Amino acid sequence: MSRSHSVIEVPALAIVVPCYNEEEILQETCSELLQLMDELEGSGRIQPTSKIYLVDDGSRDATWPLMEAIAAHDRRVVAIRLSRNRGHQNALHAGLSQTVEDAVVSIDADLQDGADNIAAMLEHYAAGSEVVYGVRTERQTDTFFKRFTAEGYYKVMHKLGVDLVFNHADFRLLSRRALDALLEYPEANLFLRGMVRELGFTASQVEYERRVRAAGDSKYPLRRMLSLAWSGITAFSTAPLRAITVLGVVSSALSVAVIAWVLVTRLFTDNAVPGWASILLPLLFIGSVQLLCVGVIGEYIAKLYEEVKRRPKYHIDQICRTQAPVAKYQHRELESN
Ligand code: UDP
Ligand code: MG
Repeated sequence: MSRSHSVIEVPALAIVVPCYNEEEILQETCSELLQLMDELEGSGRIQPTSKIYLVDDGSRDATWPLMEAIAAHDRRVVAIRLSRNRGHQNALHAGLSQTVEDAVVSIDADLQDGADNIAAMLEHYAAGSEVVYGVRTERQTDTFFKRFTAEGYYKVMHKLGVDLVFNHADFRLLSRRALDALLEYPEANLFLRGMVRELGFTASQVEYERRVRAAGDSKYPLRRMLSLAWSGITAFSTAPLRAITVLGVVSSALSVAVIAWVLVTRLFTDNAVPGWASILLPLLFIGSVQLLCVGVIGEYIAKLYEEVKRRPKYHIDQICRTQAPVAKYQHRELESN
């Protein structure tokens, strides 16, 4: 793998941790992360300027005072507080946008994803990966329901044409350049795991087994899971709008057939009850025309939606050029004189 020029040999590392009502676990999480940073720094794998960014997503428990205390006690910890609860994705984005370090890892406060995998991520980074996805190999610790719904979701997303890394949530490393590219995405509906896929750049995966939550409850009850799933679909796919068009075309075709049958029955047989054809014909016709029109409008809305997101159209990975053109131009000018 060729080493990219934006990968730094011994990077300053930032670890971003979104926290919502995590008083039970925060202290433990911080000590584990700080210990990891000591080890990484001791073995010369990260700079001593590396930092942990804790983001309090409008918690209603003692998370914020605890964070303040930790940040006051250790210069490597930065505490950020959002004005109110804005949800995991927004909290994570807020934390990411505050970092200045060379490599940035995002991880959940419960460390279910295992902080020790960060060392492996840094190895991939050093080898040239600008995006390193944390991928769960198994979900034995999740409930059957969570496992089933989560895996089903990846499959549905794939069918809808949304490119996601299977079993990857929001545990990942980004190089400074990849993160800067991500922060260029101005959309309001964040679905970071989908957006990171859009970036490109050299990517790799680190596999791990997910642990159980040590304390506190999951902040993703079914309602929130469904809302994240739905926002993932609507932020990355216009397939549901396209489905209306298809439905419109199919129902129009069917109604043409039924209209023909109604006409034949009415004109050439005695089976038609008076009033039957005059009710059924406009019903079928108007119904299918309407559905088709809604579908066509949907197609334009899909285009509008893509435009309105104002996403960057591309990110440049490398530019190679020799310094020659200027000299050559001067040379030619000299020749013509
Ligand atoms: N979280 C957040 N804001 C919210 C909900 C959750 O910042 O509104 C954080 C939470 O503190 C944790 C992460 O998002 O660090 C993932 O939440 P959780 O571990 O509860 O989700 P699960 O692992 O059950 O999917
Ligand atoms: Mg969790």
